[in-house]
Amino acid sequence: MTKHNPGPWLTLATLLLAAVPTAAFAEWFGDARPMMGTEVSVYLWSNDEKLGRQALDEVFREADRIDHLMSTYKEDSEISRINREAADRPVVAGAELFHLIERSLDISVLTHGAFDITFDSVGQHYDFREHRRPDDATVASERQRIDYRLVKLDTAAGTVRFLQPGVRINLGGIAKGYVVERGVDILRNRGIRNAIVTAGGDTRLLGDRRGRPWMVGVRDPREEGEVAISIPLVDEAISTSGDYERYFDENGIRYHHIIEPSTGEPAKGVHSATVMGPDAVITDALSTSVFVLGVDRGLTLIGTLPDYESIVIDAEGRMYYSDGLLAPGAGEVDEAR
Ligand code: ADP
Ligand code: MG
Repeated sequence: MTKHNPGPWLTLATLLLAAVPTAAFAEWFGDARPMMGTEVSVYLWSNDEKLGRQALDEVFREADRIDHLMSTYKEDSEISRINREAADRPVVAGAELFHLIERSLDISVLTHGAFDITFDSVGQHYDFREHRRPDDATVASERQRIDYRLVKLDTAAGTVRFLQPGVRINLGGIAKGYVVERGVDILRNRGIRNAIVTAGGDTRLLGDRRGRPWMVGVRDPREEGEVAISIPLVDEAISTSGDYERYFDENGIRYHHIIEPSTGEPAKGVHSATVMGPDAVITDALSTSVFVLGVDRGLTLIGTLPDYESIVIDAEGRMYYSDGLLAPGAGEVDEAR
């Protein structure tokens, strides 16, 4: 992982602060760029435009670096090499990728397999842009390879091995959370104290909005551009998984990108699942998990995790909350937190 020494920047910032009134330089900076098949955006408060813009650039560079490690769409990525070779022999993975695979497998255990990075043996046959999906025979055979227990990690050797041919892993349900978590780490190390970093449905907040909480909107899953609920948050992560991000409709059935591991079919019953908590890697993986588990089992799982809360919108558009949140009357979500 890249290390950055904040020393010289802090010195420069201090000099500037001493020389001029803070307000002259203090400003919000932001940018959004298409990346990782979605949009990555960064919005931060800085006393210095140049430093603010450098911080923005560094976050985008980091997102790009992580994408090159973890994208199954890139032939030369580390994960693509694992997918090609790990059924034949143990493959050495870089510490960063190894650790994220390890965390993914832990979440599979926690969610009793609802979160499973081996979903990709079926998932690889979808092309949502081309409205392409696997036929029943392909789903029936490929889904046998969806089982996180077929992925073996050797911590001492730092290797990944698949116990069967045809197993594939894909970190699409957790990598964006990692990107926003890393983005906020970078900003924090540069002395920034207020920021919001988003990658697709995953957002990590740094501090507050200078005296006010951030208001993060959960999309209405069926009304484009509408917000179903806004949640005030400070220094937290929030992730939403929905059936409206990557999908196509065919004969009244929505084929979307979140796969129920036990059937190999897109998960049914939920339109969106949102999870909030301290770590974006976890909220990302858990939002996918709660989507798969559905309202009852999903909220029961979240109820066992004291730091995490969830809002689920079911297929009828009804909204459900985990125990730590009250149904929002007049801003009660705010008070409940
Ligand atoms: P988004 O990509 O919109 O942030 P999610 O965080 O819910 O949405 O991630 C969905 C992605 O997770 C899919 O595009 C796919 O790459 C991956 N995925 C799909 N089903 C599963 C599953 N059961 N377990 C783990 N990852 C999954
Ligand atoms: Mg997710």
